[in-house]
Amino acid sequence: ARQFTRPLNDLANQFNTLLSAIAGAERVFAIMDEPKEASKDGAKDVDLTRGKVEFKDISFGYEEGERTIKDISFTANPGDTVAFVGPTGAGKTTVTNLLGRFYEPQEGQIFIDDIPLDKMTLHSTRQAMAFVLQDPFLFEGTIRENIRYGRLQASDEEVIEAAKLANAHRFIKKLPRGYDTVLSQDDSGISQGQRQLLSIARAFIAKPTILILDEATSSIDTITEIYIQEALKRLMVGRTSFVIAHRLNTIRQADQIIVLKDGEMIESGTHTELVRRRGFYADLVEKQTAIS
Ligand code: ADP
Repeated sequence: ARQFTRPLNDLANQFNTLLSAIAGAERVFAIMDEPKEASKDGAKDVDLTRGKVEFKDISFGYEEGERTIKDISFTANPGDTVAFVGPTGAGKTTVTNLLGRFYEPQEGQIFIDDIPLDKMTLHSTRQAMAFVLQDPFLFEGTIRENIRYGRLQASDEEVIEAAKLANAHRFIKKLPRGYDTVLSQDDSGISQGQRQLLSIARAFIAKPTILILDEATSSIDTITEIYIQEALKRLMVGRTSFVIAHRLNTIRQADQIIVLKDGEMIESGTHTELVRRRGFYADLVEKQTAIS
C-alpha cells in the first residue's frame, strides 16, 4: 500500500491533508495533472463497463535499467477474482500500481475491455476502479464527506446506503456526531478496522467495475474482521477484483491465483490446480506461514 502514497505526497503537503492512498476520486484527479502520455494520440474517454483486464508481456522497473516486473501476462474475465500471492517484495503491489496507472510499464500493454490503457484517458481508467487498501486514505473532514469521496455527486441517502452495505452504518450511528463526525489526522477515535469499513463504503458508492484490494495483515478485532470480510464479499459480487491476498481463505476462493516471485509470474491457476502441481504455491500452502 505504501507505494500509493508517493505520487500523492506533494498534494498531501499542499493541502495539509492526510493522504495515504487513493480512492477513485474526482476531487484528487481533477487537481492532479494527467500525465502527458495519457492524453497523447487522441486518448478517449471511455466507459469501462465489463471489467475484462489483460496484461500482455508487461515489464516494468521503478528505476532505469531495473526490472521489478518481468514479462507478465494474464487475463481476468469480467467478474473474476484474481489473487496475487508471493513473498514480500515479489511485485504484487507493483502490478496493481500498473493497473491503476500510477506507473507506466516499459514494455508490453495493459488492456481493459480490450482497449489499451494508453488509448483512454486516465480519468476513464480511474473512474472504473476503486481501491480498498490496508491503510485507508481518509482525509480531514466528516465521515459523510469521506464516504462521498467515492462519487462526489452521491446524495446523503446514497452515502447511508453505501455505509449499510459496507457494515459501517452501525458503528457510525453509535458515534455522538454520527455521519458528521470529523475525522482528524491525529487518530480520531475510530479503529483501523472501522477505517477499512469506511473505505469499503466509499468503494460501494463509486460503483466500480474493477476492484483493487490489499488485504490487511495487521490484527483487527475479530468482530470487525467478520464485518470487513462480509462487506468485501458483497462488494466483489459482479466486479473484477484483484486481491493482494494474505489469507488462505481468500486465495482458495479466487478464480485465478497468480504466484509472483522476484517479479516473475512463476505459477498461475486455481487453488486445486496449483496444489496438484506441487510447486511453489503448494509449498506455501503447506507451510501456511509463508504467505505474506
Ligand atoms: P509486494 O507487494 O509483493 O511486497 P512490491 O510491488 O511492493 O512487492 O515491491 C516489488 C519491488 O519493488 C521491491 O523490491 C520494492 O522494494 C520495490 N518498490 C516498490 N515500490 C517502489 C517504489 N515506489 N520505488 C522504488 N522501488 C519500489
